[in-house]
Amino acid sequence: MDFMLDKYRDLCAASASSSRECLTVAEYLASGSSNRSRRTLILRHDVDRFPKQALETARIESEYGLRATYYFRVPGTLVPELIREIAGMGHEVGLHYESVDKARGEMAEAVSSFEGDLGRLRAVVPVSTVAMHGNPATPFDNRDLWNSCGLEDYQLTGEAYLSIDFGSVLYYSDTGRNWLEDVFNIKDTIPVPVEKKPDRPVCDHTDDIIDVVRDHESDIYILTHPERWRSTTIEWALSAMADTAVNYIKICFQILHRRRNHTPDVVA
Ligand SMILES: [Zn+2]
Repeated sequence: MDFMLDKYRDLCAASASSSRECLTVAEYLASGSSNRSRRTLILRHDVDRFPKQALETARIESEYGLRATYYFRVPGTLVPELIREIAGMGHEVGLHYESVDKARGEMAEAVSSFEGDLGRLRAVVPVSTVAMHGNPATPFDNRDLWNSCGLEDYQLTGEAYLSIDFGSVLYYSDTGRNWLEDVFNIKDTIPVPVEKKPDRPVCDHTDDIIDVVRDHESDIYILTHPERWRSTTIEWALSAMADTAVNYIKICFQILHRRRNHTPDVVA
């Protein structure tokens, strides 16, 4: 069944047996395209809720010799012992920041909030990259933080959306409980013009992603939310119901935000 941990294990097994080099976000940014001789795989996880599920995926990846990048919310999923355990397996840990949301768009306050959250996570583990959290309930884009400060101000080497050249990787995300760029994928959008997006196979199920990892020549960047990947049928059913409800709430918020901005009610 899709979005079960056994299916994630299949993805890890296929990744490990492929000729791909699995790099963390920080390693990918540090390596530079000219230094990469093999096809690359980036596994990124945004830990929005249920941090114990991140431990599950981290352990599976570790079994297969894979290292991923885990972004934690502060304070939402900041569980120091668990985060240290994940980092101890060799995974990268970063901040899943939501500072503009927290400050309701007040940028000076957002910068201050970001500094505080980064400091709290760095008290647990070293942090060199960050990724924005996309909350459909707010009208803000947390990436706007970088109009008021720079990554270098905080000795950061990358932002998981803004620092990657999405013209040179195939990006797939499980946002919306599928692998499609559809109406449920509102804020998890990549900053690259449509004409520069690489041609990529359409993937509906994780089995399709596995085929791409195995066979496609391009570098691949996969985002998952560990809370979605479950080990029992009951947990899976509860997660599926929650995702379905959230998807329709997203549509409602999108319509609301568009009305506030006096833009047409077109969901796309
Ligand atoms: Zn998130």
